[in-house]
Amino acid sequence: MRQLSKSKIIAYRQCPRRLWLELHRPELKDDNGNQAVFAIGNQVGEVARGIYDAAGKGELIDIEAMGWDAAYERTASWLAGEQAPLFEAALRIPGALALADVMLSDGGGSWRMIEVKSTASVKDYQRDDIAIQAYVAKQAGVPLSSVSLAHIDTSFVYQGDGDYRGLLFEVDLSGEAFARETEVAGWIAEAQEVAALPEEPEVEPGPQCWDPFECGFCAHCHRDLPTAEFPLTSFYRMRGTKRDELVAAGYRDIREVPDEHLSETNSWIKELTAKGETHFDAAGAAAELARHPGEPSFLDFETIAFAVPIWAGTSPYKQIPFQFSLHHRDASGGGRHAEFLDTTGADPRRPLAEALVAACGSKGPIYAYNAKFEKGVIAGLAQHFPDLAVGLMVILSRLVDLEPIARRNFYAPSQHGSWSLKAVLPAICPELDYGRLEGVQNGDLAQQAYLEAIGPDTTEERRGQIRRQLLDYCELDTLALVRMWEVFSG
Ligand code: SF4
Repeated sequence: MRQLSKSKIIAYRQCPRRLWLELHRPELKDDNGNQAVFAIGNQVGEVARGIYDAAGKGELIDIEAMGWDAAYERTASWLAGEQAPLFEAALRIPGALALADVMLSDGGGSWRMIEVKSTASVKDYQRDDIAIQAYVAKQAGVPLSSVSLAHIDTSFVYQGDGDYRGLLFEVDLSGEAFARETEVAGWIAEAQEVAALPEEPEVEPGPQCWDPFECGFCAHCHRDLPTAEFPLTSFYRMRGTKRDELVAAGYRDIREVPDEHLSETNSWIKELTAKGETHFDAAGAAAELARHPGEPSFLDFETIAFAVPIWAGTSPYKQIPFQFSLHHRDASGGGRHAEFLDTTGADPRRPLAEALVAACGSKGPIYAYNAKFEKGVIAGLAQHFPDLAVGLMVILSRLVDLEPIARRNFYAPSQHGSWSLKAVLPAICPELDYGRLEGVQNGDLAQQAYLEAIGPDTTEERRGQIRRQLLDYCELDTLALVRMWEVFSG
């Protein structure tokens, strides 16, 4: 019998075929950006050790350094004779193993087990995780008094000096975890049967491929499925469950779906797609823009959010702007461009806010795409810097959102049901091609590039290269807004 780790049992819970592939054909797996998720998890785990072991008397079981057998032995002897915290405790029973993030003595001979997660709340799939963890610990003979999940508390405000007390919020899940022992024993037995199969089990791809996580074997399992030119994901904001129902009814392409199943917007999208037509209400778009007189400006931010805040006065997962681009267009069609980017690694908000107030002037509409985001960023800056609040609130009051104007007046089948800037732009201004940019071509890559730029090991030469790429990317975003405005205003 194999020792299946907790993550393998969770893989089985998502899909038996996934478990089999993880064990027998791991080379087929696509990483799907999991490395970034692991990095965040490791960072939160490290902070948790500081929080739960302020006196520094605990021990970390380092599997890589010790090896599994020594790790099991050390864990058992620590839990039998010590009182100080133990981290990454290695636990095993026949057929399953688990590493417990935090074990705290309750002072009465039992242990409190805490699983630390980088999410901002308890997710349903984490309840399975906790139930497996508790089952393995109890079956391994560990006297458990409680089992909890500690997640990130987004209301926490970092005060600096590495003091992260209050970052984690504990939820006691003992009752439900201890009540699921029979269920967990069943999962382990079933997972063992799947693991022992000589051939890949036949499981049809379905909703489980994305729920609760995107499965890394999609390319493998979906390779022989017929592909549609306009798959059901080309509908506007159709919920996953609705889409699953249509797939179950045999529909693959949006042009096949009868109107009775569709919202008004999606019927319209289907019709345009079937005819291969682009809809552009030029008069409607121009009339909407005419309501905002004056010389227009165009604004875009790049932001970063940390699970573990690094700058005093910031909170977990709060979007912090580190860059903006601002195009201004004058009445003659000429204009000017202003930009800001801080890659020093210091808190960028104050210099960015000052530069923004200086760049925006005092008159004319400021267009953004999906301006709710820009509004939130500016409101956050105004709240944090009262002396700049008046200037920032004036900018906020001038913001106009181009996205709903695009949504009401323009649609091309190539948008595939999306009015994101990256979806609309190729249909309106195909000459503005993000593909020609070097390095940074989307928001995710911009965040990765920024993190690399502020990293202590990044050379000046590389930092300079990243700065150029970030500036080019953000400038193209606002140039795109200028072009869209020009087309819409006629
Ligand atoms: S892609 Fe879907 S069917 Fe294939 S292993 Fe993953 S969840 Fe299962």
